Amino acid sequence: MALIRFSSLEKINDRKPIHVDPPSKEVTDYFGSNIFDDMKMQKFLSKDAYNHVQRSIMKGTPIDRKNADAVAIGMKAWAVDLGATHYTHWFQPLTGGTAEKHDAFLEYSDTGAVVESFSGKALAQQEPDASSFPSGGLRNTFEARGYTAWDPSSPAFVIGDTLSIPTIFISYTGEALDHKTPLLRALNAVDKAATQVCQYFDKNVTKVQANLGWEQEFFLVDEALFYARPDLALTDRTLMGHASAKDQQLDDHYFGSIPERVSAFMKELEFEAYKLGIPVKTRHNEVAPNQYEVAPIFSECNLAVDQNLLIMELMKRISRHHNFRVLFHEKPFKDINGSGKHNNWSLSTDTGVVLHSPGKNPKSNLQFLTFIVNTIKAVHDHQDLFRASIMTASNAHRLGANEAPPAILSCFLGTEVSKMLDQIEEQVTNRKMTPDEKTELKLDIGKIPEILLDNTDRNRTSPFAFTGDRFEFRAVGGSANCANPMAVLNAAVAAQLNEFNKSVEGLINKGVKKDEAIFQALRELIIASRSIRFEGDNYSAEWIKEAKRRGLTNVTDVPEAISSFRSDSTKKLFISQGILGESELEARVEVMYENFIMKVQIEARVLGDLAINHIVPTAVKYQNVLMENVSMLKNLYGDEYVELAGNRVELVREISDRVTQIKSLVNEMVDARKAANKITPAEKRAKSYSRSVSGYLEKIRYHIDKLELIVDDEMWPLPKYRELLFSN
Ligand code: ADP
Ligand code: MG
Repeated sequence: MALIRFSSLEKINDRKPIHVDPPSKEVTDYFGSNIFDDMKMQKFLSKDAYNHVQRSIMKGTPIDRKNADAVAIGMKAWAVDLGATHYTHWFQPLTGGTAEKHDAFLEYSDTGAVVESFSGKALAQQEPDASSFPSGGLRNTFEARGYTAWDPSSPAFVIGDTLSIPTIFISYTGEALDHKTPLLRALNAVDKAATQVCQYFDKNVTKVQANLGWEQEFFLVDEALFYARPDLALTDRTLMGHASAKDQQLDDHYFGSIPERVSAFMKELEFEAYKLGIPVKTRHNEVAPNQYEVAPIFSECNLAVDQNLLIMELMKRISRHHNFRVLFHEKPFKDINGSGKHNNWSLSTDTGVVLHSPGKNPKSNLQFLTFIVNTIKAVHDHQDLFRASIMTASNAHRLGANEAPPAILSCFLGTEVSKMLDQIEEQVTNRKMTPDEKTELKLDIGKIPEILLDNTDRNRTSPFAFTGDRFEFRAVGGSANCANPMAVLNAAVAAQLNEFNKSVEGLINKGVKKDEAIFQALRELIIASRSIRFEGDNYSAEWIKEAKRRGLTNVTDVPEAISSFRSDSTKKLFISQGILGESELEARVEVMYENFIMKVQIEARVLGDLAINHIVPTAVKYQNVLMENVSMLKNLYGDEYVELAGNRVELVREISDRVTQIKSLVNEMVDARKAANKITPAEKRAKSYSRSVSGYLEKIRYHIDKLELIVDDEMWPLPKYRELLFSN
């Protein structure tokens, strides 16, 4: 195996960047060329059909069969022009990632002739044989039908020869089996609630949309090395590997110049992303060696989620053109920064106002503060659910690793906004304010700088930070589908805005004036959510103590974190707003536990295999070399050998000790797995995996990593960190 390692390194050094030409000189020539966007709809649809789809996008009204047929004909004509021969419904099963089932346009006509056809029915609905997607028990196999249904708010796209139609995925009985359905419901809820609240400030607002700008971090690993690491290939992370003598200590990778081969990959990625209308804006090196980031300009949340999933697919595909493999795992390398996916989120109105951005006058600033305060309160009330929405087997390795927020939720606001909230808390009282007091407060509110972006002190350690015109949910993992945290955030804010609305209305009904009612309601929220506000260093040990004192929760165990999806407050939040019903919620939780179990199970198996059939034999082989050396020294020098071979004798003993440890730990791990596998229900099984299986991964690795340091490099069967991280 070592030979493969060296020849692959040679090959890597020989690799030349593969430059791909852009489809055209100007990006605007081809931006969005492969999506069925508004412009294409106008061109390919009748006026009636176009208006119908627009209404459906804006109002969520269903599209009838006649119009669906008309849209299908137009969409097909457009797609065929681009070379499409097949179509697929593209959806987001609970496994993670996306799924698709391709069908040719080919059909038999009534006369039996072969025709190319695409009907409204095929556009609107498909019935993938869905029995093998996880449903958390919602679908019994005898009624394994699940339907995908067209989501017209995210444009269809063509990749290669296939027209892909973004869809939701629901069971025969209408329950959500995917990530998109609850997100769409949550976005609808936040639209309604926020539009209501906006009426206090501007009656012209009729729609509020949630925005998302994601920042995708990832690693690129040369494919030859990737394949020489079965752990990377099977689990997306290294389950062993001693730290490289040099890694990120010098901070010399962050924002450094992008290596040529990586840059060629990024360029091709951008061309393809632009064709799909993904407005990729930023690319740069990240903190860790071989780690990078891409981020687009933000867009409407549902669309942004789809675009993120799409670009992850593009990255997987395009990285291969450049002999790379892309890693989205949150912690592919121990003790090296992992990959997150900051979710920049805000609400904005159809009148063009970003509600999380300060305005020009006291009134718009009061609106701004209203949305800030309600957002904080939502995070405060649902901190456990926020955590649950980002906690996975893989992200748990990253959280709290001194590079990513801890498992404690808190909000950072910056001095300007904090000061303003403190002032409202102090100055507003339950009694009627004097006109002077009110004027003074309004004046101060009016003084919030219009552009906070440059004035906002950045706090990179906060899991949920205000950054001038948006909140940045930083705890989201690199491999995650943003739909899950975004559904939770939007649902929680929607519920909170409804509460706020009720309080203000209540006060107004009691005769309190509108602006004073808003002040009073805000003050209540500021007081009630104070504990979630934290401006200090979230990575510090003091914060853990302080958070505990404040009564904030800190859950690092994945199955325990997930169980918050079952809490009464979560049920109330989701069920009352129609985002997920009780059985849908239950099913989702089951799938999360199963995912966790499977991830740990696979890692444990892979590590067990590698330990026993790669590492132990190698260590023993090297031990034999050492022993031969010792015995030859003894032959040559007699008793004097003790002095000459002393350290080799110690090494022989150390190898024996470690090999023995590894073998017995692997055996114990197998037993722990067997015991855990027998446990039902999934929640208990997941807890058992967490408690009694996952700990072995570290324990076994410890000895392997020590062996890596002493065994002859030429014999070591796996590429090491220095190779994985410093080629490209
Ligand atoms: P950072 O300084 O954190 O790297 P960037 O300026 O690169 O931030 O922006 C990160 C993401 O936030 C981008 O996708 C950007 O479009 C998005 N973004 C900017 N303003 C908003 C906003 N008001 N709402 C949502 N996302 C936003
Ligand atoms: Mg950011």
